[in-house]
Amino acid sequence: MDLNIVCIPGDGIGPEIVTEAKKVLEKVGSVYGHNMKFTDVLMGGASIDVHGIPLTDETIATAKAADAVLMGSIGGDTNTSPWYKLPPEKRPEAGLLKIRKSLNLFANLRPAILYPELRGACPLKEEISEKGFDMLIMRELTGGLYFGERKTVEENGQKKAIDTLTYSESEIRRIAIKGFEIAMKRRKKVTSVDKANVLDSSRLWRAIVNEVAKDYPEVTVEHMLVDNCAMQLVRDPSQFDVVLTENMFGDILSDEASMVTGSIGMLASASLNDTKFGLYEPSHGSAPDIAGKDLANPIATVLSASMMLRYSFDLDKEADAIDRAVDKVLKDGYRTGDIMSEGCTKVGCRQMGDLLAERIN
Ligand code: NAD
Repeated sequence: MDLNIVCIPGDGIGPEIVTEAKKVLEKVGSVYGHNMKFTDVLMGGASIDVHGIPLTDETIATAKAADAVLMGSIGGDTNTSPWYKLPPEKRPEAGLLKIRKSLNLFANLRPAILYPELRGACPLKEEISEKGFDMLIMRELTGGLYFGERKTVEENGQKKAIDTLTYSESEIRRIAIKGFEIAMKRRKKVTSVDKANVLDSSRLWRAIVNEVAKDYPEVTVEHMLVDNCAMQLVRDPSQFDVVLTENMFGDILSDEASMVTGSIGMLASASLNDTKFGLYEPSHGSAPDIAGKDLANPIATVLSASMMLRYSFDLDKEADAIDRAVDKVLKDGYRTGDIMSEGCTKVGCRQMGDLLAERIN
């Protein structure tokens, strides 16, 4: 199979971690007989330095023409970098918002996995963490409260602020379909999270999720109120497989879920549109404090590349090979500085990439 992948190395540690992810993908290509075609483009600070803006129309067009986009991370030190003296619409992060919008990426996926070897980093009690967990938070990204009409008015001598939470049937249906499709590739359980005891938008959400569920009889569906879900994530995260939810609830719950893993350098993410196209990137930022020092953990980016193979190319076997390589490298005791613990072997970004590539079979 020919895989046409656009890469956005970006800023800070971005180029280092993307190089290692490409190394692993090349190895997958050679073992499983695929042709990886990578096209690098500029975004964020790197684009500002060359073009004066964080994202050009040409870059958007190149990304749109690809099968998928693999990104490192963008942005610099917000206190010292000259990029942050520019007006907000010309700063690195504006490029990120623009590319998500241009590519119509409405579904955000963030896996939160507790690896047995990294259990020590989990802030939960041992009796909870010893069960492990492997969940995926699926958040609607382009609707709801963050995109509704908002205004501040003056009433009876005091200011009043109004935000609107709107969801249409079609917006809910398309994310629910994605959620069920993805559950079919996992443990076949969807927990749909809402606030249906209070909000109309949540009652519609629940009704549409139930309608979509009829097309996926193999998937178990449960509905959970968001306040309960926030509690269950720290009480027993092992109960979750796919957590399907709207924009604001997902924003909060996905951060909570990543925190309970305790390892920022291990967290992958994906943003998808209604075709097979997606943008894949680690959940962390560009870590300017360790950039260029061969200290970054490339695993979050490598796991994002695995998600790319699974969700954009339906190459599940190949994605499993990457996930297995990550398990193996941790079992073999190799760690970058951020996940280092006693008795393990400390390696840099490049060596971690080599060790992962060696374990692809
Ligand atoms: P950050 O995630 O870059 O770093 C937070 C801490 O975690 C730092 O100490 C860093 O060294 C460490 N860290 C992060 N990733 C690591 C990795 N792979 N390996 C080892 N250590 C790692 O967050 P920040 O410092 O708040 O932000 C830095 C820049 O990144 C800012 O410009 C911010 O806007 C940008 N940012 C970009 C994205 C993105 O591109 N999607 C996301 C978040 C932040």
